[in-house]
Amino acid sequence: MVTTRRSGSKRQRALEILVRLKRLYPEAPCTLNYETPVQLLVATVLSAQCTDERVNLVTPALFQQFPDAAALAGAELSEIENLVRSTGFYRNKAKNIQAACRLIMTQYGGLVPQTMEELLQLPGVARKTANVVLAHAFGIHAGVTVDTHVKRLSQRLGLTKQTDPIRIEQDLMKLIPQPDWENWSIRLIYHGRAVCNARNPACGSCALVDLCPSVDRSKITQLPMSQVASS
Ligand code: SF4
Repeated sequence: MVTTRRSGSKRQRALEILVRLKRLYPEAPCTLNYETPVQLLVATVLSAQCTDERVNLVTPALFQQFPDAAALAGAELSEIENLVRSTGFYRNKAKNIQAACRLIMTQYGGLVPQTMEELLQLPGVARKTANVVLAHAFGIHAGVTVDTHVKRLSQRLGLTKQTDPIRIEQDLMKLIPQPDWENWSIRLIYHGRAVCNARNPACGSCALVDLCPSVDRSKITQLPMSQVASS
């Protein structure tokens, strides 16, 4: 029979989940390809409603033609649209990318600003994008990136009851140590894709099974030995 540790404090469970995620997914790099903060900002805007793999297919040509904020700010909008078309919502994304780059040129001397408040002023940039840019381009951990995987898993793991991403982020910021805010999100995304997917979570092969209040016990035959040892 599976014994869970969900009676422990929520913070203790969150920390144990973090430890296990680090063990499961030792590397937690940003999966978007970029060379500069501006390019990371652009790639992150393009990744909305799109896979990182798809974004990585379009950005080489985009960045070759328009490598920085100045080039994107001065481009023909239709040229940007054509280059990012396959990422979906391409008109809106191209418009936001150009508007953001124009603001970066006029207000910030061509450099991506390094505060949450300033980033949120840029067209097309919400907290999720700002968190990714701050963490990976500047090593600044201002918040927890909450995408659809982070939202789903944080709820299933009983770390939040909220449904609004901003409130989920606030809950997670209280539970996870600040230096781990970004790698928490990346690893949770890995786990969401590999094991705890939206429609059919593979609880029977999940390393978080004894920490999860949403475990589907019908899928569990026995607790893996690795978890018996640590329970
Ligand atoms: S035990 Fe099941 S529901 Fe819980 S995190 Fe693992 S796969 Fe998801």
